[in-house]
Amino acid sequence: MPEPLSVTTPIEFLKGIGPKRAEALAEDLGIRSCGDLLFHLPFRYEDRTRYHRVSEAVPGPVQVQFRGTIRNPKEIQQKRGKRLEAEFTDEHGDVLSLVWFKGAQWVARNLPIGQPCVVWGKVSEFQGGRNMAHPEVMGLGEANSASALHPVYSTTERLGRFGLNSNGLAKAVQRMMVQLRTIHGADWIQETLPPEILSLRGMPGLAVALEQVHQPSDANVERLGRFRLKFEEFLFLQLLLVQHRNQQTQDLPGEAFTEVGAHFNRFYKERIPFELTGAQKRVIREVREDTRNGRHMNRLLQGDVGSGKTMVALLTALLAIDNGCQACIMAPTEILAQQHLAGFREMLGDLPLRVELLTGSVKTADRKPILQGLEEGSVHLLIGTHAVLEPKVVFHRLGLVVIDEQHRFGVAQRARLWAKASIPPHILVMTATPIPRTLSMTVYGDLDVSVIDELPPGRKPIRTVHRTDSQRLGVFGFIREQIELGRQIYIVFPLIEESAQLDYKDLMDGYESLTRHFTPPDYRISIVHGRMKPEDKDAEMQRFVEGVTQIMVATTVIEVGVNVPNASVMVIESAERFGLSQLHQLRGRVGRGANQSFCVLMSDKELGKEARRRLETMCRTQDGFEIAEVDLELRGPGDLMGTKQSGVLDLKVADLVKDRALLEDARDIARRILKGDPGLELTHHALLKSGVERLRAARPDWSRIS
Ligand code: ADP
Ligand code: MG
Repeated sequence: MPEPLSVTTPIEFLKGIGPKRAEALAEDLGIRSCGDLLFHLPFRYEDRTRYHRVSEAVPGPVQVQFRGTIRNPKEIQQKRGKRLEAEFTDEHGDVLSLVWFKGAQWVARNLPIGQPCVVWGKVSEFQGGRNMAHPEVMGLGEANSASALHPVYSTTERLGRFGLNSNGLAKAVQRMMVQLRTIHGADWIQETLPPEILSLRGMPGLAVALEQVHQPSDANVERLGRFRLKFEEFLFLQLLLVQHRNQQTQDLPGEAFTEVGAHFNRFYKERIPFELTGAQKRVIREVREDTRNGRHMNRLLQGDVGSGKTMVALLTALLAIDNGCQACIMAPTEILAQQHLAGFREMLGDLPLRVELLTGSVKTADRKPILQGLEEGSVHLLIGTHAVLEPKVVFHRLGLVVIDEQHRFGVAQRARLWAKASIPPHILVMTATPIPRTLSMTVYGDLDVSVIDELPPGRKPIRTVHRTDSQRLGVFGFIREQIELGRQIYIVFPLIEESAQLDYKDLMDGYESLTRHFTPPDYRISIVHGRMKPEDKDAEMQRFVEGVTQIMVATTVIEVGVNVPNASVMVIESAERFGLSQLHQLRGRVGRGANQSFCVLMSDKELGKEARRRLETMCRTQDGFEIAEVDLELRGPGDLMGTKQSGVLDLKVADLVKDRALLEDARDIARRILKGDPGLELTHHALLKSGVERLRAARPDWSRIS
């Protein structure tokens, strides 16, 4: 080894590792350097402060330790190799048999026969007696010097074969820390946080924190060390994100919407059929602030289903139009785009504005005048699907793009939008999937977030109940009553890729059974699923929208945005198989009119713990943010919103759910620091600056995720 050991030394050069183990460590755990191993933290600890009595030990998965002596080792020939058995007697004279099925000879040579020692492992019941298979055996001295909380590391079977099971890793870490301390002294690893930050929250330095986490003397010490490591992780993440956002808003130009003009005012005075909610007004103000001064707006608008995001979109579009720009509203599906077109035209009434629709199914002949109007600037507002992204669609002066239901819009598409104007259009992304605050602070750290946290007045809460299959006839009776009242019904079946065949069969069986219970001419049923041609799907959907059919049987294709105010019942089949946010979205399809609406969650009687929690949550609350929090708790951040691949949430120490308060704290501190020193140029921020640079270099891919 040419250089003295340091955290950047390749792990291969750590004593006892070598090239073969190094390769396995890199492949299995991503550990390449000594520093990587140092940050491979224990995921739990075993309490080794207590010695048990053999006579009282309970067989089972919990590991225990006994103090005593080992005698009478016996090697017994088996079919393959040898088995080793030995007799262990604890301090109270109770006897337990120890057994090894592998490595018998090696173990036999190393057993401290007749010496006081400690054995550690799981006790099992075996042929009427008790034994302990493959116990860990330590001399008394070794056992006493081990830290009270024994660290447990994640590892793999292959690494285990290389002697790097949890204990092997523990020993490697200890060896490394001893060596580093010998070479570099008490500050054996370079500190990464400035002293003022450490003292701000009473945190230990990095070297101490790592020692406390790898070799804690007790649980409090471990917590303190880990707190420091988590805090650091959040702080650098937040510094990076907040800084990124500050730069974005400063550097990028956007059209300046300096005035609230004639169309906006006339629409506001004459055409809005209701009073805006306080939340809607607040969001409009936020958008106004963003767009008035020539900086680029990149705003995420979160508002539960039915909270009135469309009106915000329209008012924002009018603001753009009054300032000489064109606006574009993108919807994820053809049907939604059509609904928006119809809605907008009706709302705008006789205002002299040209609103057009552009989707995949608009015929070439009809397309021409629209494209021309866009290029000349005579089309003020374009509503469309992804078709508007095509290069042929050229705007005269595009100033604003509203993207409805953001989760279907990717980075590449955003880039294509930007190419459509010399000044990047302002962007308002609207989503009805509430995002827990912790996530929006991390994943969407570089977006401004507006929230509509208030529903328009007079909404009746949707009554949600859980029913099992045995109660199906009752549910059918209820459906019949609702139809007699003139209402319409959704019945939704799951369709999941992995089980598509079976799901499809369930859907068809369900449909068959419904057609037997609800026969024409009194009842008419629509069906929509993914195997139908898009035209047929749209036609069926249209029949339901127009009220020709009273029941819509569907897979989750209806999830996003459809508005049929007369639909008052949402029945969700196999509800236990849906995720919480999906259930919430589906339920949002009803409760849009004046009538009392209902959601019926159908499931098996037998439910797993998580499924039960999901259904209970749905029955208990209608608050999308509350539901999102439970969802985050149940599923973890990686699964939510497909952020797994983005790597943004690849946290090493901290946990977004459990450490929420810490995240908020780190964000506040990051903001405060950057307010006084936006570029982290001050000398006493040098450590912070280099920490942020390290992080930026490690994760170059995370800006602009939405
Ligand atoms: P979403 O946020 O799910 O897109 P919409 O914009 O479709 O919700 O609004 C749902 C319904 O609420 C629409 O029928 C709309 O006209 C109505 N609405 C919106 N804002 C208000 C308001 N301030 N007062 C009363 N009704 C409103
Ligand atoms: Mg909407």
